Amino acid sequence: MSIWTKEHFQNYLQDVRKLAEGPFEEMEIEVAKTDRFPQRFFDLVQKSGLYRCALPEAFGGYGMNDLQLMQVQEEYSRGPGGMRMYLHYAMGMNWRILHDFGSEDQKAAILPKLADATIFTCFGLTEETGGTGADLHTAAVLDGDTYILNGEKTLISYAQYANYAYVFAVTRPDSHKDDRLSAFLIPMDTPGLEVLPMPRPMGCRGAGYGKLRFTNVRVPKSCLIGKEGQGLRIATHSLAVSRAHVAVSNLGLCQRMLEVSIARAKDRVTFGKPLASRQMIQSYLAEMGTYTHALRTMLYDFAKDFDSGKEHETKAAMVKYFSIVTAQKVSDFMLLIFGGIGYFEDCTYGPIERMYRDCRVTWLEEGPPSVLQITAARGLLQSGGTLPYTLGEGAGQ
Ligand SMILES: Cc1cc2nc3c(=O)[nH]c(=O)nc-3n(C[C@H](O)[C@H](O)[C@H](O)COP(=O)(O)OP(=O)(O)OC[C@H]3O[C@@H](n4cnc5c(N)ncnc54)[C@H](O)[C@@H]3O)c2cc1C
Repeated sequence: MSIWTKEHFQNYLQDVRKLAEGPFEEMEIEVAKTDRFPQRFFDLVQKSGLYRCALPEAFGGYGMNDLQLMQVQEEYSRGPGGMRMYLHYAMGMNWRILHDFGSEDQKAAILPKLADATIFTCFGLTEETGGTGADLHTAAVLDGDTYILNGEKTLISYAQYANYAYVFAVTRPDSHKDDRLSAFLIPMDTPGLEVLPMPRPMGCRGAGYGKLRFTNVRVPKSCLIGKEGQGLRIATHSLAVSRAHVAVSNLGLCQRMLEVSIARAKDRVTFGKPLASRQMIQSYLAEMGTYTHALRTMLYDFAKDFDSGKEHETKAAMVKYFSIVTAQKVSDFMLLIFGGIGYFEDCTYGPIERMYRDCRVTWLEEGPPSVLQITAARGLLQSGGTLPYTLGEGAGQ
């Protein structure tokens, strides 16, 4: 909290909300058609300092702790989904992979440039020919002092904006252990690396989706992140905290969906009474509010653990899983409260149908429910069911 007073931070949060619900929403009309962010979006993000929030102070960032970061993320998540995804990545894996696993030389060369987005990355894990995680086929073969990469990645967000790509590739094809993969940071203008387009997405438009095709892409050994064989560890470690931040995205959206639903329920009169006076509608609102509040509580608990260095992968999987259930419930009830008008684009209360579509991405973004359940179950089985709790808190010294 070093550079923020409480008042300064609260003002910043309000500014981020105004940005998300003001200029970002206005730009979304164009983004929905073109599936690209205009330059004005990048300029506004730059000016707002959002690139710097998560980045440590040593590299030109604000060095916010996770609890602060979550509050910033909640505010911009109220806005359009594609912009939310971009900011989620900018505040997470964009810098964290290099920060946690890169060499001192790599960090000094790249991390300060992330503070003003001179460099922006994308994250290349998923492939059409295998399952998420270790089941990859893109190969990196060592040839003297260089690696040669061949293969294809799909569904890669920001591929059309990035000038570097984190790429996960097989370096030990015969290994049946967790050391099959290695991670690389590769300049996008390397010969043989092509970005191919993807079809238009259901929601979260503009995030620059593409495929990455590698044809004899030759990169120096210095592009390796961490050690050879560490790729899976790097991916799972980086995805863990990022998943909790996907859950925050759902929190921001659920909070807004709850608020617009309350406004509509108070205004809309049927049979002489506002919807808000009907017990059935109140029960919808109670469910929406309870799940949203529970999600926020889980997230703040996660942030507390994370900020004090406790094990966090299990809780990250659990909170993202819970956020998916919450977003589904809240968006369904929102549509029920709005009735037919909620199904159409121009609703005066807010982008009801777009929020309904946007939140569906979190079923898939950084791991579907089955992966989250497997991760949560593994942690529970290992710990015998005891997660880090703050037992004894509240007692005197
Ligand atoms: C908008 C968007 C942006 C994305 N951005 C990126 C990105 O930037 N970088 C990136 O690398 N990826 C990205 N992804 C990919 C995303 O991470 C994957 O879509 C997700 O992990 C699911 O993998 P899949 O699509 O290959 O589905 P599949 O693996 O085909 O899975 C389909 C279904 O089968 C289930 N399943 C699969 N294998 C098993 C198993 N062994 N046991 C039980 N159930 C199983 C899954 O849970 C799922 O329900 C993005 C996806 C979307 C939709």
